[in-house]
Amino acid sequence: MIVIKEKSACCGCQACKMACPAKCISMVCDNEGFLYPKVNQADCLDCHLCEKTCPLLNKTTVRETAPVACFAAISKDAETRLLSSSGGVFSLLAESIIKQGGVVFGAQFDDQFTVCHSCTETMDGLAPLRGSKYAQSDLRNSYSQVRQFLKEKRPVLFTGTPCQIAGLRGYLQNKDDDSLFLVSVVCHGAPSPQVWKEYLMHVTNDTLPTAVSMRDKTEGWSRYKMVIKRNHETCLNTTATDTPFMRAFLSNLTLRPSCYSCQFRGDHGSDLTLGDYWGIEEIHPDMSDDKGTSLILVYTSKGQQLLSNLDLKLKESRYEDAVKGNPSIIYSAYRPAERTLFWRAFRRHGAKALNDYTTENNTARVRRLWARLLRKFRIG
Ligand SMILES: Cc1cc2nc3c(=O)[nH]c(=O)nc-3n(C[C@H](O)[C@H](O)[C@H](O)COP(=O)(O)OP(=O)(O)OC[C@H]3O[C@@H](n4cnc5c(N)ncnc54)[C@H](O)[C@@H]3O)c2cc1C
Repeated sequence: MIVIKEKSACCGCQACKMACPAKCISMVCDNEGFLYPKVNQADCLDCHLCEKTCPLLNKTTVRETAPVACFAAISKDAETRLLSSSGGVFSLLAESIIKQGGVVFGAQFDDQFTVCHSCTETMDGLAPLRGSKYAQSDLRNSYSQVRQFLKEKRPVLFTGTPCQIAGLRGYLQNKDDDSLFLVSVVCHGAPSPQVWKEYLMHVTNDTLPTAVSMRDKTEGWSRYKMVIKRNHETCLNTTATDTPFMRAFLSNLTLRPSCYSCQFRGDHGSDLTLGDYWGIEEIHPDMSDDKGTSLILVYTSKGQQLLSNLDLKLKESRYEDAVKGNPSIIYSAYRPAERTLFWRAFRRHGAKALNDYTTENNTARVRRLWARLLRKFRIG
């Protein structure tokens, strides 16, 4: 039976819950807003399937090789590219699977603006999956749905963070299926869904928005913005560096504990990995126009096959060059010394704490210093 002793030992993929034949595992939110499995022992059959599917307990699910190829890529569909976070490669891959009668899984906002995994079989259904959502996605029952579609011999494209891909592989017991295509995103780390929700409600004065973009590129890919709208009113329109939620994400304060020692950097079992090709202006200036350039890492021949016949401007690149501008490919995010203090402040002050802990104004610095001294005094 799965027992989570250390929070860092669970990535929240929910493979254990979905694999449990007795349905005795539920996912419970901790005080940072992350989901962890809880077993109802009375109903447990002691079959150990939960442990056998866990991608963290079964490190063999992770292959340790460098990509076989690396590309800079730009979708030739300018409209879709503008709506995508990077170069719009996800949409092209998804469209090609749908044209073959397949199903595409990815992260979207639900009607409460919680990030969750969902699937679509239509071109129109791709719009909500497009674009990065910087909160950990709740996988709900998506792995079981994947298995069902595979049984029906439908092509399936499953996209998500590296740990979500490893979780799905664990759930399917690492059985390869020619109809299953696995595409991960390079992942800096998964921010708390609770912080996202509280920040959103703070910005919108406790009413649900009608549209959210965490990677609005209308003023350029490099100066991307977070835009939140309620009908015709703009509640927020700020660059990442001016957005407390994004600053907290990028300074690692709000990430899931397992992200600080991520076990799925490099090759984690996906066919392709997509990211932003940061630094492209120096490496391949002809692929740089500040409208978004994707990085594609190819791990398998199936991945190579996925890329053929896409309407892409593609340029072969060196893995070492890609890693230089994008350390998240190989390194876990560092755990900031102030993480504990931040969470204490967040529980007390809510979204306001995001600003205090991500701006170096004197008040915040002095408050933090005091808190640190008090803590030291109490511990010592
Ligand atoms: C939490 C997170 C951290 C990231 N960190 C980095 C990074 O450090 N460096 C980097 O180069 N790229 C990072 N990315 C990936 C990048 O932002 C783009 O998602 C990726 O380049 C694909 O872009 P696109 O233009 O092809 O497609 P888009 O349409 O922009 O992306 C859609 C894809 O992103 C997936 N997705 C969106 N939100 C989530 C989520 N919350 N959980 C799981 N999957 C999600 C969708 O399922 C879909 O596959 C991150 C993405 C996320 C979600």
